[in-house]
Amino acid sequence: MRIASLGSGSKGNATLVSHEGTTILIDCGFSLRQFERRLSKLDLAPENIDAILLTHEHSDHGAGVERLATRYDISVWSTTGTARAVFDSSFTYRVVSGGHSIKIGCFDILPVTVPHDAGEPVQYVFHHVASGKRLGILTDTGHITAHIIQAYDHLDGLLLEFNYDQTMLDTGPYPFPVKQRVSGDLGHLSNDQSLKLLRQIDTSSLKCLIAGHISAKNNCPTIVSQQLSQLDDIPSPVLADQESGFGWITV
Ligand SMILES: [Zn+2]
Ligand SMILES: [Zn+2]
Repeated sequence: MRIASLGSGSKGNATLVSHEGTTILIDCGFSLRQFERRLSKLDLAPENIDAILLTHEHSDHGAGVERLATRYDISVWSTTGTARAVFDSSFTYRVVSGGHSIKIGCFDILPVTVPHDAGEPVQYVFHHVASGKRLGILTDTGHITAHIIQAYDHLDGLLLEFNYDQTMLDTGPYPFPVKQRVSGDLGHLSNDQSLKLLRQIDTSSLKCLIAGHISAKNNCPTIVSQQLSQLDDIPSPVLADQESGFGWITV
């Protein structure tokens, strides 16, 4: 299976997971025109997308989903709590709930409940049934729970949030209440929290690590790279970028 991103960060997210005939989009925080422009760089057309999975209603994830789905007639999967916050009441979607796998094409996909300041947020773990490979996406999470450690254990690929460096957040430009929100239990994962997760899960089969949702104001790719280089048994990471995301990576 393979993964690509059209952009990662607080200004918009859209991630693609694909294998043979099945292509799934996770979130769309871009306008329709932006999305089409970014997707064309991957030589993919919107008509190739089989389904959209939504993680939560924050605009950097959900703002473009309804328009895109309606324009190209793509089915959308969302928790009820997220859908209530983001879609028109007449919009049709399929319901997912944390802990209950769904099957789309060649994938079994597990929605994982995460602590974040949204209505009913989930993140997703993809299981490619034929090869047995597993790929996890984990962003927009305030802290690591036992439940997360269990769901993200022993993956082949992982896109993991490295949102902020604690010192840069403390000394940075955000107003105090926003700093509290970002670093709170329902905010985002710091570099330290994500590094700690990598020590808590079995990474022996991890061949692909992508650091994503890196804050432009409260973090720096150099710091993320330096910190990750301290873990010797982890593959050298790809850093996802707000403007260009990252191209296809095979897991
Ligand atoms: Zn976000
Ligand atoms: Zn969020």
